[in-house]
Amino acid sequence: MENCYDQTKTQPANAIFGVHVHPANDRYIERALAMTLYNLHTDGDHYRITKFVDGNVESSYLLSHNECECPAGSRPTCRHRQMLPSMLSQGIANTHWFWDRELESAVDINGDAKAAVDAVIEPIIAEQTVTQDTQPAKPWRRL
Ligand SMILES: [Zn+2]
Repeated sequence: MENCYDQTKTQPANAIFGVHVHPANDRYIERALAMTLYNLHTDGDHYRITKFVDGNVESSYLLSHNECECPAGSRPTCRHRQMLPSMLSQGIANTHWFWDRELESAVDINGDAKAAVDAVIEPIIAEQTVTQDTQPAKPWRRL
């Protein structure tokens, strides 16, 4: 009988091994050598998007949904303005998370998917919330 759920075929290598390397494919190895990530921070009433290549800052631009100070800023849109809504919807602004534009997903500095971490952490947080709710409240004690 055919295995209809083979995870090695349905998930990218990075989702399983936490790296962007697939030994059978040179393209993935090239990608691992030059990992491009973006992070996002608020800066006044704008955002600052910073591009990292292999952990080194390559560029950093102020932007909003409508403007960007990058070389393509005069165009109707640019890659930064295109990424901004996705980055905000993933809640990665002002965090340690990065945006992988190729994967269109949030990752940590090693390229590990935020979704994989969330899948582990969220049940633990939910369990702790239930435990806290069922325990009697402890009185505040000022030191
Ligand atoms: Zn831009």
